[in-house]
Amino acid sequence: MKKTRIVILGGGFAGLRAAMYFDKGLARQTDIEVTLVSRDNFTLFTPMLHEVASGDLYGGDIINPIRRILHHVRFVESDVESVDCSGHVVRCTSGVETLHLDLQYDHLLLALGSETNFFDLPGVSDWAITIKSLSDAALLRNRVVALLEQASLRTDPAVRQRMLTFVTAGGGFAGTETTGSLNDYVRDTLRFYPELTEDMVRVVVVHSGTFLLPELGEELGNYAEKKLRERKVEVIKGVRVSSYDGAVITLDNGSQISAQTLLWTAGVKPSSVTDALPCRKVKNRVAVNEFLTVPELSGVWAAGDSAAVPDIKAGKLFPPTAQHGLREGLAVAKNIEATILGHSMKPFVYKTQGQLATIGRHTGVAMVFGFKFSGFLAWWMWRTVYLAKLPRWPKKLRVVMDWTLDLFFGREIEQTINVRDIDALSQRLSRLRARMRA
Ligand SMILES: Cc1cc2nc3c(=O)[nH]c(=O)nc-3n(C[C@H](O)[C@H](O)[C@H](O)COP(=O)(O)OP(=O)(O)OC[C@H]3O[C@@H](n4cnc5c(N)ncnc54)[C@H](O)[C@@H]3O)c2cc1C
Repeated sequence: MKKTRIVILGGGFAGLRAAMYFDKGLARQTDIEVTLVSRDNFTLFTPMLHEVASGDLYGGDIINPIRRILHHVRFVESDVESVDCSGHVVRCTSGVETLHLDLQYDHLLLALGSETNFFDLPGVSDWAITIKSLSDAALLRNRVVALLEQASLRTDPAVRQRMLTFVTAGGGFAGTETTGSLNDYVRDTLRFYPELTEDMVRVVVVHSGTFLLPELGEELGNYAEKKLRERKVEVIKGVRVSSYDGAVITLDNGSQISAQTLLWTAGVKPSSVTDALPCRKVKNRVAVNEFLTVPELSGVWAAGDSAAVPDIKAGKLFPPTAQHGLREGLAVAKNIEATILGHSMKPFVYKTQGQLATIGRHTGVAMVFGFKFSGFLAWWMWRTVYLAKLPRWPKKLRVVMDWTLDLFFGREIEQTINVRDIDALSQRLSRLRARMRA
């Protein structure tokens, strides 16, 4: 008997939510095979990523193994390379040995999320760091500690200043939240370095807009800026980064900042896998209709950050957030199921519930059902809401435990990844690859 094959690409908010729906239904049927392909065998809870970067949480706290969540959906850990829509095949590679896999589909759900966009600015992709993945966050925290260690050994004020200058490009959610918590982490950790003083540290946000957190409006954005400035963060608005050579950041107003760390949060673009798809795009995102199908491609559906999903009531696109990705994932799974079972599909409709951001030191900003909150209450709401949304009880408990320990004992300041380890690993990988080529 020929099985109906559903292939989901991406184990993030949208893809995993769809897979979880199938796991309880269609994936249990013998005539249906559901496969989830993702490059990591865990799902990452991005709203808490900045807490890993700033040592509030450990990386393992905010990820969940996909194999523990899905029991009837097949999981494949692999990198998706391309999609052949005419042959209904997804081409993937897996592991150091770059094993090639071809997966046939009848229904394909594209949920590969977004990638960092460096806009081809000179040097930026070579030297800037990002905060998109778990390893980004873990490396950022290690980098901060490594720079404090190194700066404590330097006597040249210019070199020390460069090492202790942390610049974020982008004042949206990821940039503002990460800057707030990173600033607290650096300044709190300084007391363990008697050679260093607070005036040696510079934390800067460079934001192209007129106020931070544009998604939350001017009032809350200005509040966030005021709070950051009170904690000695410099906020430079109306300006963009134009280049970076690993030591000096040049801004488009001609000014320069000497900094060893540029955190790039100023741009995202949809997964490059979708670039070559022969279908309509809106802002580079795959255009779907209200049922989340890609009209030009038979059997192809899309949801999450890589899809341009129309909000038919408001006459615009839904924003690319986790909140929307989750709902789109569920809606598209139900429509795929309806198509297979011969039922009618339902259009995706959703009313945004609100948005929350933390800016460090028990302070936050929030807009929930149109009401604005700021300060401790917003921070408390942020923690409560996102703790509730973090999947699986063991992880929720770990997060609560870490937050409680931080409260009493402060954050940990060890450097767990060092240049030696990275060097050894990359040499071993090169040897392995050379042997495979031979
Ligand atoms: C630092 C940060 C903080 C954020 N905070 C918030 C917040 O507070 N609230 C909010 O609503 N949103 C937040 N977002 C945005 C939110 O993370 C995204 O909108 C959401 O993840 C989109 O879901 P998705 O399923 O489309 O993509 P993702 O969740 O990104 O999932 C994509 C999946 O595809 C996999 N993948 C990608 N490319 C490939 C490939 N080629 N091969 C195989 N697998 C691949 C990835 O590993 C991932 O598992 C934040 C994002 C970041 C980076």
